[in-house]
Amino acid sequence: MVKLVAGNWKMHGTSADLGEVRAIAAFAAKYEGAVDVALCLPATLIHRAAEAVPGFTVGAQDMHANEEGAHTGDLAAAMLHDAGAQIVIVGHSERRDAHREADADVRAKAEAGLRAGLKVILCVGESLEVREAGRAEETVAAQVDASLPQGPVDPARFSVAYEPIWAIGTGRVAECGDIEEMHAAIRARLVAAYGEAGAGVRILYGGSVKASNAAEIFATPEVGGALVGGASLTAADFLPIVEAGA
Ligand code: PEP
Repeated sequence: MVKLVAGNWKMHGTSADLGEVRAIAAFAAKYEGAVDVALCLPATLIHRAAEAVPGFTVGAQDMHANEEGAHTGDLAAAMLHDAGAQIVIVGHSERRDAHREADADVRAKAEAGLRAGLKVILCVGESLEVREAGRAEETVAAQVDASLPQGPVDPARFSVAYEPIWAIGTGRVAECGDIEEMHAAIRARLVAAYGEAGAGVRILYGGSVKASNAAEIFATPEVGGALVGGASLTAADFLPIVEAGA
């Protein structure tokens, strides 16, 4: 399974950073077929980046589930697609937390994104409190069950990212054994939901992935790629991760 290495720039980046996008896209082109690479940018950069690097996968970090309407400040999937986005992250823990997004909201977004022709990365993950209470697996399995899009999915267009909240932006990475266990649990839910197609859905790991730990994480069974925050902001940090995924 070709790995997907997706960057999440969060609320970072202006047109001054398009050089980083260009450098990352040029490097990714050399590895075409060996690793899939995407950058999920702030919405304000999507159009400019998509024009600057045709053929490279530029994406968004969130979207509204509705097609249009009175939703001040929100963006519909078709708008993002029109701007040049090919992929979208839904259900990131920062959205679930700061914007009180529930599993049902995340499911609606994932379904709307797929309908609009976007690829979707759906995020799940447990808090430190939940992990320490020994309830990580049941919590994530319940999140997966309640947020997966309903109906058939095309594994080429849909991925799940397991991102333990306590590992995001903290420098603390989950143990490979724990990642393997959680990804296997997620795989079981995907197969239960989608049958054979569920076996082909890539399960990404996210949480303080960097050049020094990427190879080990990618070698872990059931890891189909990575969702990378801080280390995706510059080509210098991101390219070694892309290379490790190839
Ligand atoms: C993320 O934003 O999804 C993420 C995993 O961030 P970081 O790589 O910085 O931990």
